[in-house]
Amino acid sequence: MEKYQVAVVRDNDIRAQVTKALELLGGMQRFVRPGQKVLMKPNLTGPASYEKGVTTNPFLLEALIELAWEAGASIIDVGDGTGSLHIGTYKVMERCGIQRVAEKTGAGIIDLNSGPTRLIPIANGRILEKVKINQACLEYDVIINIPVLKTHFITEVSLGMKNLKGCIPPSEKRRFHDVGVNQAVADLNRVFKTSLTVIDGTVASEGLGPKEGKPVGFGVVLAGENVLAADMAAAAIMGFDPKKIEHIKFAMEDGIGPDGMEKIEILGETIQAVKRNFQRAIPSMPSNGQAVIRNFQACSGCMGCAAITISRLEDMGFFAKDPRRKIEIVIGTKIPEDLFGDDLIFMGNCAGKQGKGRKFIQGCAPSALDAAHEILGYFQVEGLPDV
Ligand code: SF4
Repeated sequence: MEKYQVAVVRDNDIRAQVTKALELLGGMQRFVRPGQKVLMKPNLTGPASYEKGVTTNPFLLEALIELAWEAGASIIDVGDGTGSLHIGTYKVMERCGIQRVAEKTGAGIIDLNSGPTRLIPIANGRILEKVKINQACLEYDVIINIPVLKTHFITEVSLGMKNLKGCIPPSEKRRFHDVGVNQAVADLNRVFKTSLTVIDGTVASEGLGPKEGKPVGFGVVLAGENVLAADMAAAAIMGFDPKKIEHIKFAMEDGIGPDGMEKIEILGETIQAVKRNFQRAIPSMPSNGQAVIRNFQACSGCMGCAAITISRLEDMGFFAKDPRRKIEIVIGTKIPEDLFGDDLIFMGNCAGKQGKGRKFIQGCAPSALDAAHEILGYFQVEGLPDV
């Protein structure tokens, strides 16, 4: 039985690490041929440094670009459509050191949140009949998917399959969360294929990801041709059972790659040698109803911000110190006009109209830390939540 190969390499020298991972799979020349156009797709979810375990390590990206040039690529672009819409992809690239790497290596940069899209039909999709993909993504010969290894409060883990959400426009990203993100991500991966997945676990993150987790200096890189195989190996390394993670389970059932770990050949380090049980992304909530989230079709940005804000306040003892403290965070795109109450806090730019002249935390999505500070201000509480 032919197996799906996934390379796992631990090293402190990123260039040596990436080179070794690729060599174990047959070298970059197996994926990039002379004259081909290459898209590098990092994870640029927000303007946070790779040192926080949120965005792709620019040194890893630099090594991959150099290897792709050496293999004969004619054009290399670095592209993503950030989830931080209020900041924008190019600003995020600048703040994360990605623009600097592109300039240094002669690669272009591209914002996948803008430009024409193409509607791709999905035969027998779980939840989607069609998906809109940024057209530019469909015009490269090779796509190298470079997610960060992290936990995620909605999808449990955020790895290669999930990272491809950056190739769809913002309206489609929002729709994924409306219809069910785990099924939608599995559907997207049925029709949108990449050539190589390199999972960046140099600095990973655990806990309340994808943006507010705790960084983990992990020093591990995984690489595989099949995105599902790479994700399954990464999930196992993080201490998860891959078939218990919904979007991975769906993809296993849908036949986009291996349907069990026994179909994967691990090259380099063993899973056991690098395994570390990552803390899950489970926000804490006060048990007596002091905090409520009222969600009127918000996307994951505000859902995450609301849950993580409450979790921060709970962890600092805000609710326990005074049982009369109560908040209702209102988020979403379809908030009714006639919502009233002293405890309401409107969160996110989509709630701006209803929040006018009331307690309103702006941003798309706001940072959970800023939101927690604002709420402490409303209650005139001294002291800040632990970051
Ligand atoms: S304000 Fe919130 S709900 Fe609206 S698009 Fe931004 S993150 Fe999504």
